[in-house]
Amino acid sequence: MIPIDTIYNNLKAKGYKLTRQRKIIIEALIEHRKEHLTVEQIHQAVRHSNPEIGLATVYRNVKLLCDLGIIETLNLNDGFVRYEIAPVQKKHRHHHLICTNCHQVIEVEEDLMDSIEQIFAKNYGFKVSDHETKFYGLCARCQNRNDRKG
Ligand SMILES: [Zn+2]
Ligand SMILES: [Zn+2]
Ligand SMILES: [Zn+2]
Repeated sequence: MIPIDTIYNNLKAKGYKLTRQRKIIIEALIEHRKEHLTVEQIHQAVRHSNPEIGLATVYRNVKLLCDLGIIETLNLNDGFVRYEIAPVQKKHRHHHLICTNCHQVIEVEEDLMDSIEQIFAKNYGFKVSDHETKFYGLCARCQNRNDRKG
C-alpha cells in the first residue's frame, strides 16, 4: 500500500502545493499502479471525471512529479515511457517480469539482488545504489495456453 499522505507531505516539504491536478494525477497512478501508465493513458484515466484537464497539463505535472522523485519513469522497451509511484522510503527498485506474449507486467517486490550486490562490493569494490531489472518470458497463463495447444 502506498501511504498517500506521505506522498503529499513529501510534495509540500519540497515546496510544492498539492494542486487539484497533481492530486488527481497521483491518485490515477496509484489506482492503476500495476498498469504502468504512459502520459496519454494517465490523461485518459483522469479525463473521464475531470474533462477540463488537458494533455499538456498532465505532461507538465508528470514531469514535475518525476523531477521531484515522487514518481519514476519505467522503460519496458516497447517504445513508451511509463510512470509509476516511487517508493516513499528510498529502497532499491522492484523488478518487472514482462510476458512477451500478452505483455502483462508482473511486479516483484522482493529485492532478491542482495547476493549479487555483495559480490559486486567484494570483487569490484562497487556499492550498488539501485537497479532496474526486467525479465522477459511467459506468464503462467500464457504457459498454460501453450501447453494446451501442445
Ligand atoms: Zn537491491
Ligand atoms: Zn502472458
Ligand atoms: Zn513497477
